Amino acid sequence: MSTERIEADFSAALDTPMMRQYMDIKAKFKDSVLFFRMGDFYEMFLEDAKIASAILDIALTKRQNSVPMCGIPYHSKDAYIAKLLSAGKKIAICEQSKPDDSNPKLMTREVVRIITPGTVIEENLLSGYRSNYLCMILPKTALVFVGMADVSTGEVLQFAISVSDPEGLSAELEKFQPSEICVLEKDKERILGWERLGEKNFTVLPASAEGGNEVKDPFHSVRNCLEYYVRENYRDGSLTLREAKVLNAGSFLEMDRETILNLELTENEYGKNHTLFSVLNFCHTAKGKRLLKQRILFPETDLAVLESRWEKQDLLRKIPSQPILQSLKDLGDLERILTRFRNNKSAPRDFRTILTAIETAFSLKETLHAIGYPIRYPIAKLTDLETYIRERLHTEELPVILGNGKFLKDEFLPELDRAREAGSKGMDWILELEASEKKSTGLSTLKIKYNKIVGYFIEISRNQAEQAPKEYLKKQTLVTTERFTNSRLEEIERAILESDDTIRILERTEFEKMTAEVLRFTNELLELSEEFGDLDFQLSLIKAEENYGWTRAKFSQNSGSFMKDSRHPVVEAALPVGSKFVPNDVQLDTGDNAIAILTGPNMAGKSTFMRQIALNQILFQIGSCVSATKAELPIVDKLFTRIGAGDNLTAGESTFFVEMKETAHILRNCTSQSLLLFDEVGRGTSTYDGMSIAWAILEFLSEMPRRPKTVFATHYHELTELSRLPGIWNIHMETLEKDDKVLFLKKVKPGKAKKSFGIYVAQLAGVPETVVKRAGEILSDLESRKKEIRIQTREPSLFQDFQPSSPEQTFWKEWKNEISSLPLDSMTPIEALRLLDEWKRKLNARKKSDQD
Ligand code: ATP
Repeated sequence: MSTERIEADFSAALDTPMMRQYMDIKAKFKDSVLFFRMGDFYEMFLEDAKIASAILDIALTKRQNSVPMCGIPYHSKDAYIAKLLSAGKKIAICEQSKPDDSNPKLMTREVVRIITPGTVIEENLLSGYRSNYLCMILPKTALVFVGMADVSTGEVLQFAISVSDPEGLSAELEKFQPSEICVLEKDKERILGWERLGEKNFTVLPASAEGGNEVKDPFHSVRNCLEYYVRENYRDGSLTLREAKVLNAGSFLEMDRETILNLELTENEYGKNHTLFSVLNFCHTAKGKRLLKQRILFPETDLAVLESRWEKQDLLRKIPSQPILQSLKDLGDLERILTRFRNNKSAPRDFRTILTAIETAFSLKETLHAIGYPIRYPIAKLTDLETYIRERLHTEELPVILGNGKFLKDEFLPELDRAREAGSKGMDWILELEASEKKSTGLSTLKIKYNKIVGYFIEISRNQAEQAPKEYLKKQTLVTTERFTNSRLEEIERAILESDDTIRILERTEFEKMTAEVLRFTNELLELSEEFGDLDFQLSLIKAEENYGWTRAKFSQNSGSFMKDSRHPVVEAALPVGSKFVPNDVQLDTGDNAIAILTGPNMAGKSTFMRQIALNQILFQIGSCVSATKAELPIVDKLFTRIGAGDNLTAGESTFFVEMKETAHILRNCTSQSLLLFDEVGRGTSTYDGMSIAWAILEFLSEMPRRPKTVFATHYHELTELSRLPGIWNIHMETLEKDDKVLFLKKVKPGKAKKSFGIYVAQLAGVPETVVKRAGEILSDLESRKKEIRIQTREPSLFQDFQPSSPEQTFWKEWKNEISSLPLDSMTPIEALRLLDEWKRKLNARKKSDQD
């Protein structure tokens, strides 16, 4: 709603000093919901009130019968803020301070904090298991530069993606799931037009956020933008980001957005249960959980990394895990605690956590060294910090907030001890004074009390008040009592207040010094947190292996995948007691058995079988054991799944179009080192259209110089004839027909399936008997009239159809030499075709010059 409209609709109600103040402040924070403090409430007005009342499910009322308004009690703001943040809203907290000088009836108000989904650091507003990313997208000519900052831990990750690969960008966004995405004003329109980005809410930054023209490195610009926005939200400059890590393409298993979603790696539509993460998560620390999640989304492609993880697990298996796990349980979330220290939001108890972490590090290092476990953190340096904190910190219960109890040790600061003594002596003096005054006045109702507003006072009931000694000075009159003071009480009160002040100042000063000291060790403590997180991760993988009876796969030298009795790690874990998952063998190579055409009825377990191949491959590439009794697996560079129909109706794309786009992406990007899983590609169109597409895809894959490992599930039984092509073979889901019943055995066998049993499944699902019966009649009629579709395989074309005639022999030899030195393994078919075209062009050019 524009300002002009608001003023037209509510002009009278808005024309009060307070509402004018509100409108002035709101004008500066247009994109935030403004929490406007009024007494014990935060009020929201106009459009903000409508948005907030709907999200928070609170009553929408009207101020002065016209201005929409809603409010929340100030002390329970966190729960409401959390809800608004998860709805992607920003919140500007506007506090009231003192009466306005120019208008004593109005309080001065100012925005003290802006809380945004991507910059929040409060523990109660964050989930421990997931990182909370603030994303910056900066498109340049050929590449899009992206930065992901977890402000709560200071971690920054950066990477670049080709401008022509919007799919790649949406895959990364799916992995990181940023809570907030920033773009520069000039790029906003362009980015809105990109794949799946049209639905997002962007935070727009001014051009100056980049840091000026002299910044040449785009990664540097991205970082400047992230820092700019963090500074905007933490205006005291207290919050800083850590050095950025650049993620290089190729160092992690590449997965597209659909694959991440289809495989339900860390989340599914019901939350985070029944995901690969939930099955693997036996972590005891928040850092361990975040690391596990990150590693599932970024499986490794470097065998050396996997070997070092296996080695660590082998060493850990030598000792009982229970004592280590117990130690890990005692650790706090060091990364996030350090952020609180940097942002002056720490509490006395956070020092205890740091102390416990260092102590744990000591004892664990000894245990781990004894088994030769390679753990790296600078324990010697941390000893200094430990001694420093231990010398100062009170050893018993620490207060939640500074000033609410003892935080520093006795005998650490003599001045503090003296003040504390004066404070507690003061209390003795008060008790003595009360007894002596009671005795000398003989007044039975006389008591000495304290409250925050009046301070210390002598209280006497109304009916005895007249007998109060003359030197008593009246302080306050209440209905049933009279309150006084005298010179001795004033003297004691002064002493107590002075000591309170001294304690407060000394504690605050020491707290700040200790904070600075902890921050001096930031890097060492972060290394510690990283190592503990990794240890927790390794133990979690060991526990998963023991729990589910998994196996360490051997690295396959020849790129083939082999698994004996493999299972789906998530489906098996979720099976009810008494049910058993039917294990299956997997065999795929890059030669004759590269492309498996999988046929079998509905409900037979085809999707499950394909997903289990993918999930076990991911398990292998994060360094975990796999769900099989024996396995030999290669490292794959890309994993693509085309399983299930993902609509993108909001972007105006039909199910079939989306399916074809995903298929195009796979065919254009796969290499012989990739793993491809297709489930019923082509079913969203007419039978012949669909079958032709599926057929052509299989031919295309078969003709690749080296074939990617592929499983292609289909209901087009005719396609099984393609097994005549090089690299293609048939597998099927076994069924057993007996007494009009079909048993789905969930067993994968070589060869093709006999039938689809679609009508039988319809009957099982409760389709009315008349429909089922009629479908049976139609099917037998169609089958009796069907002309046999014979698969006519064509001559392989890609490289083989280029047969040179004799004048071209020399050139052909050169071409063959050249091709044998090419990295065909890492080439996509499109690249290979392009190369071939180039050679053909060269050949024609040479022929032409020969003729000339
Ligand atoms: P459709 O063609 O209808 O998509 P499908 O052949 O892909 O069916 P799935 O969805 O994989 O079949 O499996 C059907 C059901 O059988 C699922 O509930 C799954 O959990 C269960 N299932 C699949 N494979 C196995 C197995 N090997 N052992 C035990 N249960 C299994």
